[in-house]
Amino acid sequence: MTSPRIKLHKGDLPAKVSFSTSVAIDTETLGLKNHRDRLCLVQLSAGDNEVHLVQFDGRTWDAPNLSALLTDPNVLKIFHFGRFDIAVLERYLGVRTGPVWCTKIASKLVRTYTDRHGLKDLTAELLGLEISKAQQSSDWGSETLSQQQLAYAASDVLHLHKLKTRLETMLKRDGRLDMAEAAFRYLPERARLDLAGFEEMDVFSH
Ligand code: MN
Repeated sequence: MTSPRIKLHKGDLPAKVSFSTSVAIDTETLGLKNHRDRLCLVQLSAGDNEVHLVQFDGRTWDAPNLSALLTDPNVLKIFHFGRFDIAVLERYLGVRTGPVWCTKIASKLVRTYTDRHGLKDLTAELLGLEISKAQQSSDWGSETLSQQQLAYAASDVLHLHKLKTRLETMLKRDGRLDMAEAAFRYLPERARLDLAGFEEMDVFSH
């Protein structure tokens, strides 16, 4: 695999960067509590081995180009565990991301033979690629990100398009694509419940 082309931007996507029908997205934050731990980085890729990284300084959240992309009804946003990213993007950028696709939800609906649905597990099994998670817990608030951090951040969006293709085939095979699509439509609402304080509660349970 040739190394990806990584472009780092501060505070917003440049206006000239556009995505046609779909974009893979991931975020890095200071931690897992979206009210406490701010958004630091948004990674985006069209699935063409090029990754755009948008770095936030924690002071200004005005990102009109990125926000327009996140809410563009004609561009599908592909995540892995989008529930977290969608909530964080709404909390900090004030946008409701959509339409969305989530490789973790898809995996849970078709890979019923395992309980391993991490991105590393998916890329290993479905694509035969090993990705490193070594930089996952590093300081994403640092003004200057290391080469290791940039490479790790990029690797989280490089393979989502291929994973989606593989998972879609499996969902169709098992007659579960419509179920998955219904779950994806609900996902932004689930993220909104998380932001409203219902993170620990399953509102459907007895
Ligand atoms: Mn990540």
